[in-house]
Amino acid sequence: MISHIKESAKEAGCSNPELIDRALEHLQPESGSAIRAVLDAKIVDEDAFLRQIGRRFGLTVWEGFGSLSAERIRDLRKCFPADAARKRGIVPVHFEEGQPGAEATLVLASTDPFDLQAHSFASRESDYPIQWLLARPQTIRDGLHALYGVGDDSLDDLIESRLNASDTDQWEQTMVLDAEAGSASLTSLVNDILRGALEQQSTDIHLDPLGSDLRIRYRIDGKLKDVPTPENMGSLKSAVISRIKIMAKLDIAERRLPQDGRIHLELDGKPIDVRVATIPSVEGETVSLRLLGQEVFHLEKLGMDARMVATVKNLLTMPNGIILVTGPTGSGKSTSLYAFLSEINDPDTRIVTIEDPVENRLEGVVQIAVKNDIGLTFATGLRSILRGDPNVIMIGEMRDLETTEIAIRAALTGHLVFSTLHTNDAISGVTRLIDMGIEPFLVATSVRAFIAQRLVRRLCKSCKEPYRVNPAVLSGHDWSYPLDGHEAPIFYRAPGCQYCRGTGYRGRLALYELVVITGAMEELISSRASSRELLQQALRDGYVPMRDYGFKKALEGETSLDEILSVTTSPSRAVESALVGAFA
Ligand SMILES: [Zn+2]
Repeated sequence: MISHIKESAKEAGCSNPELIDRALEHLQPESGSAIRAVLDAKIVDEDAFLRQIGRRFGLTVWEGFGSLSAERIRDLRKCFPADAARKRGIVPVHFEEGQPGAEATLVLASTDPFDLQAHSFASRESDYPIQWLLARPQTIRDGLHALYGVGDDSLDDLIESRLNASDTDQWEQTMVLDAEAGSASLTSLVNDILRGALEQQSTDIHLDPLGSDLRIRYRIDGKLKDVPTPENMGSLKSAVISRIKIMAKLDIAERRLPQDGRIHLELDGKPIDVRVATIPSVEGETVSLRLLGQEVFHLEKLGMDARMVATVKNLLTMPNGIILVTGPTGSGKSTSLYAFLSEINDPDTRIVTIEDPVENRLEGVVQIAVKNDIGLTFATGLRSILRGDPNVIMIGEMRDLETTEIAIRAALTGHLVFSTLHTNDAISGVTRLIDMGIEPFLVATSVRAFIAQRLVRRLCKSCKEPYRVNPAVLSGHDWSYPLDGHEAPIFYRAPGCQYCRGTGYRGRLALYELVVITGAMEELISSRASSRELLQQALRDGYVPMRDYGFKKALEGETSLDEILSVTTSPSRAVESALVGAFA
């Protein structure tokens, strides 16, 4: 057995036998798992190693659940209790029908199908003959998550206490009191929910009461996804919500008014920062958690192409002026602003921000949160910031004329100002500022650039595949991107696999367009030129419309054609909508 494992490790890329010996050194002869020991030592390529083991012992490597019906989940869950399956790292995969009349076989997956304890556990718990599959540790974790959802281990303890309680209402009361007292099971249940969200790189968690149940959803890559929860979660909803409110230092007795708070905690040794908002709904109290600080802000990591990065770097060296990022809510504007600030953040530069709310902390930057209830608005905050001698100012959003006027004055008196606007494309930023009531010549002389952005989903690297697209389809979408002689251009699509949980997408990617205010553009803005004229000038200055930028990303295989077409408008239509805006 051990010699096979050593051989497999060698074939999977570990050429140093000493490393293999060291990995297996402390193995307990009875209970230790040699396969896990080798994997834990990280000396081999996981996939290659398991393939070798599989080949030697005639075991199939399991790639995970594709899609799972609710019925199949229910059947498979019955095989073992959640905590036992987790503890032993066993995933019930399916029941395989045998010959007519013969018994079905229960197919189980494990990272180590040779684990004797797991074997005896499985045959004790199940009446079926068992067949084993081999799987990567991550595949096992994903499989357990898909079957049992979050929070099941901690839930078992809690549910047990309810079964022993005679009065359900009273038990719920007790649970809420437990939440106040910081009950260990409730705490670990809430931690499980947070941990699940972090593992799946989600940005938000929503807990909504739904009838007698509690619905939990994670926002992953911008889309909401239901989190499978154990059946009994509903009975704990008040307790769970109370626990979160306590963690966020909110008033747990107040259920009729919305509340905001923050949680700082350490989970598995990693600090996490969560913004909590409660909203009373007719169904009961809903809680939304925004997971903060998961991002690292780097200009180079925004995904702009090299030419755009160079232009932005150039803009960032300017001593004064306004740089505006535009786009709808949730288009990643703050990420870009934080990346810009990080780029120029050094001890010689005093950077002050006013934000609503402060989403992420930047070291060495003075960040102020808007508090409307005590009169700290963007405008009043900005005034006091200017008295504090800053070099660079970031204003979360130019929402009103007063704020915008102060920002422009700041830019004209030697400050570099960053802010955002809610417009669909870069060039509409000009119209928006003029519509607000800013004199065109002030817009022309203070603004350095408008950067518009949108987020699209990134294609899954594991399952994406190229395909040819009929150029006729593209010309219907104002295709103006040069095709370099390819008649039918190659795009990419992804059918979905275990890595992307069947969605075909993993992570997100920003699309940009950048309009730099050149001398010629300044003149046009000052003379109140039409949006069409501004757009034509921008094109002469080297502006690339977002749709064309997106087509390039799709041709490079970063995202799909569908994503580009759904979030960008064609340049000609953009001009029309800008015209409508100008004359409305
Ligand atoms: Zn995939």
